Amino acid sequence: MKSKRIPSIRTGLARLVAACLIPAIVMVALFLYADLQRSQKRLVNDSIEAARALILAVDGEFLGAERTLRALSTSPFIPRQDFAALQVQSAAALSDSNINNIALVEPGGQQLMNTATSFGQPLPKAPNSNQFESVLASGKASTSNLLNGPVLNRPIIRVAVPVRDDKGFTHALVGVMLPGYFQKLLLQRRFGSDRIAVIADASGAVVARTHEIDRFLGKPVAPGLLRRLNMEDENAFEVVSLEGITVLTVFVRSPTSRWTVAIGTPIDSLTADLRRSLWLLGGLAALLMSGALGLAWIAGGRIALSIRTLGASALALGGGKAVVVPQLGIREADEVGKAIVKASVMLADADVALKSSEARMRGIVESATDAILTVGKDQRIVLYNAAAEKMFGWPAGQMLGERLDKLMPARFRAVHAGHIERFSQVGTTSRRMGDGTVLYGQRADGDEFPVEASISQLETADGTLFSVILRDVTARVRDHEALERSNLDLQQFAFVASHDLKTPLRSIGGFMQLLERNHAGQLDEKAKALIHRTSAAVHRLDQLTEDLLSYARVNSEVRPFAPVRCGEMAEEVVHLLDDAIRQSGALVTMGELPEVMGDRTQLVQLLLNLVGNGMKYCRGREPRVHITAQRDSHGWIFSVADNGIGIDAKHHEKIFEVFKRLHTQNEYAGTGIGLAVCRRVVERHGGKIWITSVVGEGSIFYFTIPDIAAERSAP
Ligand code: ADP
Repeated sequence: MKSKRIPSIRTGLARLVAACLIPAIVMVALFLYADLQRSQKRLVNDSIEAARALILAVDGEFLGAERTLRALSTSPFIPRQDFAALQVQSAAALSDSNINNIALVEPGGQQLMNTATSFGQPLPKAPNSNQFESVLASGKASTSNLLNGPVLNRPIIRVAVPVRDDKGFTHALVGVMLPGYFQKLLLQRRFGSDRIAVIADASGAVVARTHEIDRFLGKPVAPGLLRRLNMEDENAFEVVSLEGITVLTVFVRSPTSRWTVAIGTPIDSLTADLRRSLWLLGGLAALLMSGALGLAWIAGGRIALSIRTLGASALALGGGKAVVVPQLGIREADEVGKAIVKASVMLADADVALKSSEARMRGIVESATDAILTVGKDQRIVLYNAAAEKMFGWPAGQMLGERLDKLMPARFRAVHAGHIERFSQVGTTSRRMGDGTVLYGQRADGDEFPVEASISQLETADGTLFSVILRDVTARVRDHEALERSNLDLQQFAFVASHDLKTPLRSIGGFMQLLERNHAGQLDEKAKALIHRTSAAVHRLDQLTEDLLSYARVNSEVRPFAPVRCGEMAEEVVHLLDDAIRQSGALVTMGELPEVMGDRTQLVQLLLNLVGNGMKYCRGREPRVHITAQRDSHGWIFSVADNGIGIDAKHHEKIFEVFKRLHTQNEYAGTGIGLAVCRRVVERHGGKIWITSVVGEGSIFYFTIPDIAAERSAP
């Protein structure tokens, strides 16, 4: 296939110049041609006018001659045949006439008198005597064609008029006119030197001619013209003149004398103006074209150079090199050049910013205390920071390009591959650290250690990458285990202590009762009061021990979770509080309560504490307690609302701690453990507990039992 060549800017500009100039030049040429046509038409019209005027003048000359001859034809000397006197009279008539000489001729052509010779001389017979015969026959004047006069012995023209007497026409009076007269008449008209004008007789013979009359006198006019003369009386057409020049000829033929005037203008001189104009136009066009093309060539060259320079600059820009664009001398190109330079500066700035951002990032990554690794989809490590080196004991040089699972115990590798697969398939882009999942890493020396990992998926120009951050949680796991152990110890201690305290306490209480009952008579009032206070203190200590025990039991006496119908459970709680409700005149109501998975005994304890508190912290009012539950996305939110004294917001956290009370024993009896037990129960069920309250109006305790309580039910 032939590939189409793309034209250069120079070619394009040259075409543009041609496209603009050529039509203009053609238009000017057409205009010139139209102008020529117009001037030709004008010339033809002018020539026809001139020819008409001239033929009228010729006919006028004949008429003048006829008039002179007519006057003489009535001369008395003719009938008297006094030709000598007639000659004198005729000669006198010639003085102000266009006639050269006058002759009297008999019908047969014999001359009787001729002013051209002295009277008495023998006269030759006039040629073409049929002219006289027709004059005598018609009685009308007649003009001859050019003929050779025998007296003058040169070409002449004869005007003949008839002479009559009583018997009829007897003679012809002839006026001889010389062609020179017509020549003069013609030359008086002053045609331009290049125009050829001719006066021809009725036969078409040249009588007068502006050019070379001597050569052409008496000769027939140009054959082309002659043919036309026989066909029409007036026209304009192109013909070749006697000298062989092509002329535009205009001719007019007299209807009376049948003589002709023709005026020819050489075609050459007619078109000379046009040719001159065309030459001029051609020259000008060539000049214009070459000038414009030259300018287009220079401009095209400059544009092409600008484009090439800009192209090279753009390539340099792409290659990240410093770009310098010289002045190109074209405003737009200079603007593009400036834009490229600006772009290069911006790119350089962006590059610097990118490099410093990379350096910062590298600094962060390298100084991070967590191990940071980046792996590709194929699990090969592409980034491995200093903390990773320290954590795993492998230098970066050895780990880059290695598979990530080299850093974990062999038994987890298969599971890990599955995780990664799923991670990229489900489209999760990140998983945070701290969701409690503990994984295991393996050091270069084979040691295993617990790690927490966060992973995020990145779409980069190099494809999908996974960024993995690993934290060694050995210390935390160890601390957690130690804490759990110490908590357990503490709980056991509290349990054992409170359990073991109960027996001696009961004994003391029993002894006090015995003392009071059996020895009341021997004791004075002071001793009785002491015994009474001791019993009260024992009772309180017993209460405290009981509450502490129940607090400890929340975590020690755990039962598997089972479905708990909360409505029924709440009814049971109301029933348990029956006495207190009756005494205080309280009203405990409830909305519809759901079924949840949980430890029923603990949940009863929870509700018992909250409803009990609602009734207790009421000061003078009839307590109103309302229990409800509503669903949220994770489980159930329970609320226990009362119309009690309310709690200032600053105590809202504190009241859930062990032994934290806001009142003295005298105001409200209590141990300060109830709400701590509540929190422990709720937390064991995976929920949260909190309060909203308006002092003086009441409090609402909220706690949640999440759905996952079901999962935690396993022992
Ligand atoms: P106790 O009731 O034995 O003092 P709790 O742990 O049950 O201990 O309560 C801690 C403190 O919280 C109480 O001393 C009391 O000041 C306040 N409190 C608990 N429930 C309410 C309530 N419904 N209205 C007002 N104050 C309350």
